[in-house]
Amino acid sequence: MVEEPMEDAVESAFTQVPSKDHWFQYSIAPDDFDAEKVWKVIQRFRTLLGGDSWQCPFCGVFFKGHHATKATFHLSKSVGGGIKGCIGRMPTWLVESFKEAIRQKDQIKNMRKQITLKQNDHALSSIRVQASVIEEGQKRSSNSALASSSKKVQRTMHDTSRAAASTQLSVALCELVFAHGLSDAIPGSNAMKRVLKLAREAPSTYVPPDKDAVRGKYLDQNCSLRETRALKLVRDHSEIYGCSLLSDGATIHGCSLVNILAGIPISLPPVMEIVDCTDHLASGGSKDSLFLTTEMIPVAERIGSRNVYLYILDGTSNERSSGEMLEEKYPWTTLLHGSEHVLSLAVGKVCKIPEFAELVEEHGEMYSWFTHHQKPSAIFQKYAKQFNRGTGRKITIMRA
Ligand SMILES: [Zn+2]
Repeated sequence: MVEEPMEDAVESAFTQVPSKDHWFQYSIAPDDFDAEKVWKVIQRFRTLLGGDSWQCPFCGVFFKGHHATKATFHLSKSVGGGIKGCIGRMPTWLVESFKEAIRQKDQIKNMRKQITLKQNDHALSSIRVQASVIEEGQKRSSNSALASSSKKVQRTMHDTSRAAASTQLSVALCELVFAHGLSDAIPGSNAMKRVLKLAREAPSTYVPPDKDAVRGKYLDQNCSLRETRALKLVRDHSEIYGCSLLSDGATIHGCSLVNILAGIPISLPPVMEIVDCTDHLASGGSKDSLFLTTEMIPVAERIGSRNVYLYILDGTSNERSSGEMLEEKYPWTTLLHGSEHVLSLAVGKVCKIPEFAELVEEHGEMYSWFTHHQKPSAIFQKYAKQFNRGTGRKITIMRA
């Protein structure tokens, strides 16, 4: 590139520009190239008769006026700007540079538009100030001979558009949380960090999965991934320490399930299996001991039944006899019963003694008086706060 002092370049704008062959010497933009300065590529003319004009070095066409934006559009080979795109052969990097220059101008325009929409947003109003600084900088650099370095302007513009994009991203993340009733910890979670990282690397053609894919293909994929991880974790540790299997029935939203968890020393018990009993029950079966045992055995075998030393089961009768079957099949195991079932049965019987029953009934009335009536509830809250050792924390009535 022909080196010219900056003052010269702008003031005597009609100095000879490099020929088109000059630009083909480069495979990428040279360091001192600046797409903001379109007149360093295009030759301008001023004649007494014809007035202002310029000639594109690549297609050779003459145009009237000295319109930098129009000239930039011409060299970017894009549609718009009130001028035809260049049909001459040009280095790709040169076309892309001018395209980028147009994109950046559009970004500033968009930022200003947003600010008009959200005048109150503090973050955006600071962007507005920055945007106008940049715009003035641009005007100066194209109009005056003493323009500040346009590289600097470009950098500031870049920073500004980045700041605007960051603010917009935060707003969008929070909108996602509010609109879908998600946890407010989601934007800062590791899963979201992963999403953002991958989004940066994804191609612009990326289309996110639709809801059928989310609850179908991807849910299955996620499930099998977690199963594989959990099994590996349990197997690795049970070889050294042994492990326990915990099982319990649960009915969630009318769906009858049996959950099987593995107890290992280094983490919370990973879920090994969730058995959906619906089909079994529909075909006339019940959640009896045989059914429970046949569901437990494959899990024990997957882990390596030799390394499972302890079975912790519920206190219900079907779980009890299922445990006995397992003990018979695997004689090295120990059997434990969850005692909360037995305990709740015992407490239930105690509460049937008339003196206790009366207490329970009175408590029930008091509970419903203070929780189901607005005025007593408000009065209760007021005094509860006062008497709660001055901590101001709410206390509630325990439900009988
Ligand atoms: Zn052209």
